[in-house]
Amino acid sequence: MSEPLLAVRGLVKHYPARRRRGPLVHAVCGVDLDLAAHETLALVGESGSGKSTVARTLLHLEQPTAGSVTLRGQELVGLRPAEIRPLRRDMQIVFQDPYASLDPRMTAEQIVAEPLHIHGLAAGAAERQAAVSSLLRLVGLDPATRDRHPASFSGGQRQRIAIARALALEPALLVLDEPLSALDVSIQAGVVTLLQDLQQRLGTAYLFIAHDLAVVRHLAHRVAVAYLGRIVETGPVDVLFGRPSHPYTQALLSATPVPDPAVERRRQRIRLVGEPPDPTDPPSGCRFRTRCPRYAAELDDAGRERCRDQTPALLDSGQGHAVACHFAGPVGFVAGRGATSARGRGQ
Ligand code: SF4
Repeated sequence: MSEPLLAVRGLVKHYPARRRRGPLVHAVCGVDLDLAAHETLALVGESGSGKSTVARTLLHLEQPTAGSVTLRGQELVGLRPAEIRPLRRDMQIVFQDPYASLDPRMTAEQIVAEPLHIHGLAAGAAERQAAVSSLLRLVGLDPATRDRHPASFSGGQRQRIAIARALALEPALLVLDEPLSALDVSIQAGVVTLLQDLQQRLGTAYLFIAHDLAVVRHLAHRVAVAYLGRIVETGPVDVLFGRPSHPYTQALLSATPVPDPAVERRRQRIRLVGEPPDPTDPPSGCRFRTRCPRYAAELDDAGRERCRDQTPALLDSGQGHAVACHFAGPVGFVAGRGATSARGRGQ
């Protein structure tokens, strides 16, 4: 990848479980991400994986505990509010729930025009109206709806208003924080098509936070899979979906329906046991080991000891595909080679 638009290195976010007291929640623990201009990177994982905390930290909605975030090479961590304000034009967010994120007292025009006001753009009424009309058309809404309030729009239309507002400042990067999860399945496809169309027309880069891998496959160029605050696998979408190598990615993909009925019939579900561990007290070594099917069923004592004692590094295996597992490989490959003394990568 050439110079990335966004580069995240060693991002850490810890916060107290209860206000000012109690053990620390290890929400994000050393995350690295790169996002190129015009690209979509999907950040996926279960609830509690830290993906939304990563998004909020990038946007300075929360301060990181440690790490570096650069946008076009400029360091953002440590900037004062006055210094970060002009840079916000380049980074906008669309939140999960358009019912909660739009002020019910404002009209569609006021909502979409607000960022222009804040940044001193489109100062005159005629200029502002023209900008709002253009943005509403851009997201497939009739400008004649400009005087209506959010309550009179459907969920999909509200999310389109939120997208229009986020695009008002022509950002280089749009963070999409699970933008489909509050919408009916029947209208999700329309919003996905809109996002693809907008990226083609405007060239905006997307950081797409999601848990629905079927949508990710359509929308993303690359995927990063998060588990309990760490990235466990990342790569181009075709590589990651075609040959997932981390047991957690394999389990997530096995739960994703496949459109081809013949393939769907053969699909083997990998059921993860238990819940994600307490983030105030994550497991030693590999954080996934308490739920890992490979650890439970395929490794011998020496292999398990390694998983317990050593944190697996995110190692690149080529084509930008990187995996954080001592025994990365296809489903069943350790058991399949009868490797009761399986040797992990890098040995
Ligand atoms: Fe499972 Fe061990 Fe790989 Fe972790 S390092 S995912 S516990 S096999």
